[in-house]
Amino acid sequence: MEKESAGNKNRACSPRGDEHLISLSEFLQRLDVSENGLSEQEAARRLKECGPNVLEEAGKENIFKRYVRQFRNFFSILLTVGAILSFLGEYLDPGQGNIYIGIALVGVVILNGTFTFVQEYQAAKTMESFRQLLPPHARVLREGKERDILASELVAGDIILLEEGDKVPADGRLIETNVLKVDNSAITGESEPQLRSLECTHPNMLECRNMVFSGTLVQSGNGNAVIFATGQNTQIGSLATLTEQTSEVDTPIRRELNHFIKIISSIAITLGVIFFILAFILQDVFLASLIFAIGIIVANVPEGLLPTVTLALSLASRRMASRNALIKQLESVETLGSTTVICTDKTGTLTQNKMAVNSIMLGFECLLLENPLSTKKRTEGQEAEESISKTAVGTNSDVAEGITDPGTEGFCVLEKPVWEPQRLPSVFIRAAGLCNNAKLYESPPGYTGDPTEGALLVFANSFEDVKKLQNDYPRLEEFPFDSLTKRMEVICRTPEGKLEVYLKGAPEVVVKMCSFAIDSGGITELDETKQQQLLDRHLRLAKKGERIIALAYRQGDDLREYTGGFVFLGFIGILDPLRPEARDAIARCYAAGIKVVMITGDHPVTAESIAKDVGLADTGKLEIITGEELNLLSRTELASRLKNPSIVFARTSPVQKLKIVQLFQSEGEIVTMTGDGVNDAPAIKNADMGVAMGSGTDVAREAADMVLLDDNFATIVNAVEEGRTVFDNIKKFIVYILASNIPEILPFIAFVLLSIPLPMPVQLILAIDLGTDMLPAIALGMEKGEGDIMKRPPRSRSEKLLTPQLLLTAYGVKGPIEAAAGFFCYFAVLFEGGWTFGEQLANTNPLYRQAITAFFSAVIICQIANVFASRTRFQSVFSMGLFSNRQVLLGIASELLILALIIWNPFANLIFNTTPINLMYILLAVPFAVLLLGVDELRKYLLRKNVSWAVRFFKW
Ligand code: ADP
Ligand code: MG
Repeated sequence: MEKESAGNKNRACSPRGDEHLISLSEFLQRLDVSENGLSEQEAARRLKECGPNVLEEAGKENIFKRYVRQFRNFFSILLTVGAILSFLGEYLDPGQGNIYIGIALVGVVILNGTFTFVQEYQAAKTMESFRQLLPPHARVLREGKERDILASELVAGDIILLEEGDKVPADGRLIETNVLKVDNSAITGESEPQLRSLECTHPNMLECRNMVFSGTLVQSGNGNAVIFATGQNTQIGSLATLTEQTSEVDTPIRRELNHFIKIISSIAITLGVIFFILAFILQDVFLASLIFAIGIIVANVPEGLLPTVTLALSLASRRMASRNALIKQLESVETLGSTTVICTDKTGTLTQNKMAVNSIMLGFECLLLENPLSTKKRTEGQEAEESISKTAVGTNSDVAEGITDPGTEGFCVLEKPVWEPQRLPSVFIRAAGLCNNAKLYESPPGYTGDPTEGALLVFANSFEDVKKLQNDYPRLEEFPFDSLTKRMEVICRTPEGKLEVYLKGAPEVVVKMCSFAIDSGGITELDETKQQQLLDRHLRLAKKGERIIALAYRQGDDLREYTGGFVFLGFIGILDPLRPEARDAIARCYAAGIKVVMITGDHPVTAESIAKDVGLADTGKLEIITGEELNLLSRTELASRLKNPSIVFARTSPVQKLKIVQLFQSEGEIVTMTGDGVNDAPAIKNADMGVAMGSGTDVAREAADMVLLDDNFATIVNAVEEGRTVFDNIKKFIVYILASNIPEILPFIAFVLLSIPLPMPVQLILAIDLGTDMLPAIALGMEKGEGDIMKRPPRSRSEKLLTPQLLLTAYGVKGPIEAAAGFFCYFAVLFEGGWTFGEQLANTNPLYRQAITAFFSAVIICQIANVFASRTRFQSVFSMGLFSNRQVLLGIASELLILALIIWNPFANLIFNTTPINLMYILLAVPFAVLLLGVDELRKYLLRKNVSWAVRFFKW
């Protein structure tokens, strides 16, 4: 590895390239680091010397390329062809002013490309700023203490702690590893997770197993490493190709736009060619026909459209960010809008992830207990409350309200005294407190780690000091929890020097491993019937929506994972309150025709209870499919069950999520899928819209298209609404912009067929497309969603941006009205001025200049009515409040200002060949504007009334 050229010149900061080969002691010596890590002071010094651990802003060198790319679209090419034809015209017949049209067109191409580029550049900046909102963190050991720091503050010599799901923050050499597997694909392209070790296994650093590299992902296991290279000095920093490898993705909106551009361009070229030939035949003037063809092309191309689309998406993405949904790719905004199925986690997304122990069932004793703090019966439990005062930590007292029905009749008695310490065997507390990886904080009271375990720890701590327990019963071995096995086991040494094995996990898993159970102070043997009795019993808790954990223990004789012979201790029911917004959000999904699918590892009974609480059963039958069924049922059987509007997948493992995504996709659905763990990444990647939790692993966030800062289901639904709105809005301004194409094209056609003076020269077309139309179009892009936006079914996969109905509305209804207004005013001026049909007028003739001014202003007046009309697709504009979108008013003001300038400003008169006209000629267009608004209102009215021919021809 020649690293000489690596960014930082400083010797002490750049790695030497042999870090994987040298002995560990030499390596540590070179970096001058002890087993306690660096001191804060030394770390600060190194940070100052070597700079922050960040990769240089990618993409700078590509700026020029990206700029040039803007000119490769069809519209730019068309306009460039127009410019070339103009120059050709100038060459063939100098002095006719064609050169100015050519220059103007070149200017338009450059301006437009630049504008689009700026839009995209800013959008990229916005995406970047979103990333800044979630800065990468790293856990380091400094001065012997574990700390969470910003990854940018890492320095060479830092000891980092790596865990499943982490993104490696810098290059390091491992000093400890526990079946650590990394995904090095970001660097080597090799996507199989690779096992790490402490030995050097290859002379090439990238192939060597004792190395971890910045930007790679920890797939499983954990380990510690000493950092030796940061920022640009890392392997990834030296890979120039890294920059924007993912920028070109074929999102639905991109495809749509390309389709749109193709259609409009074909129309432009076809018309251009047909009328060029026609003009040539009729008038036999090659040059005039040429100019005419240029005009047709210019009139057809909606110059301002592409940057406006980018801007609309960009604004939507910012609105979403302010509602806690960060997207990574601009176009995903729109993908969200077409979602038909949302697959969501239960824990943390529909619920608050604030778990608290709510009830306990002790062994075979018929006892059902409720945590007095989490029930309504607080006063009854006075003394109990004393004894558990510490449980207040993480306990939400109003959680259980409304779901306190214990369902105990003839089964168990609600006995509050049992919550007292002496009634619980201490081994029960030990199992809860020791088979646990959460950590308690003292101030403020709380815990870190898995919320399920945190709840158990808080619970255990309310009976006995768990810190002391952990010291008295040191842990010798751990078999961590895993969603697949659904259990966790630890082996501890008792003060008497014996080994005790504690097991906790899902009831059916734990009970199967038990041969005994505690019972009224003694111990009874368990046979299959008795096991079944226990399992039946826990459903009582599960019915209340509690997540049930079973506890067991046994004596051990060596350090291995035990799979049988346990003594069953009891069940613990943990309650996780619903998010208050979840219910409403789910109702909104149903109204919007979106299927909601809840996925959980919990028991189907727990899942069902929560599904009902959150409103998933409100639409009728609730379909519950377990992980087991998912594996056993055939595709066709599953497909028929997936037809239900509400589906719950219970006892699933994260790896099954991918199968669920694919099942729905094969049914033609557009799937949004949430996740937070390493195992969720494939499903997140494969879903049409992958959503990761802000609190989730780096791996999941890496795979996702969108990150939820608040982990909240309601945020997804809000984002869907934004997505739908933006698609609607893009359609709205397309109709708006396209309508003015007709009064731009017809003058040329009339010019050829009727031999009248050209009513609208090219420069005025450009004044509309790039002047007056721009701000109103942008304003339409900011329109709020129509009232029914979340009450319509999702857009179908085949629904296009540019539909025949949309074209018919723009070209067949609105456009012709505008053209009629234009011609009306145009001829009014001409006839008043004594013009007779067939008479030719020179460009400089004042009457002609007045006439084209009148034509132009009529089009603008109509476009003002058109902005209003275009604000809604189905609802009456008047229902929106005429002044509710201030940008639209601003847009109209800009339109009027440009119009006034073009009419009355002498300089503008010179450029556009216009001249001041009588106000009366402008007002002549107003009835046409009113007509346009009225006709469009009628169209919307018919659509709301579902009149079939209207729907068929004018619903877009
Ligand atoms: P989810 O995806 O809904 O969080 P999990 O796969 O994490 O579901 O959990 C499945 C089941 O495993 C739970 O219902 C519970 O019984 C059990 N369980 C969950 N967390 C733990 C844990 N940390 N230790 C032991 N058992 C657990
Ligand atoms: Mg879990």
